[in-house]
Amino acid sequence: MARGKVVINEDRCKGCRLCVTVCPVDILQMAEDRFNVKGHKPVQVIDPEECTGCAMCAVICPDVVFTVYRVQRKRERTAA
Ligand code: SF4
Ligand code: SF4
Repeated sequence: MARGKVVINEDRCKGCRLCVTVCPVDILQMAEDRFNVKGHKPVQVIDPEECTGCAMCAVICPDVVFTVYRVQRKRERTAA
């Protein structure tokens, strides 16, 4: 089953929230406890296990904050 992993370059984020509006599983949120070098609250992933790897966040982000990897999980073997 393919799942995703996103790597966030926090310091590039300008806090526009576009990515938050497009994530189909609603796992992107603006950080409330810190600011990046530009003075914005950066985006963060609140539930990485739910990422599907759809890359919508990377497509819509104007500042190339996301790198998305598709992760191929091995199927569990069942006893014959
Ligand atoms: S790759 Fe898709 S599911 Fe994962 S954080 Fe980005 S928009 Fe959400
Ligand atoms: S779309 Fe890009 S710049 Fe805008 S909040 Fe999301 S990560 Fe930050």
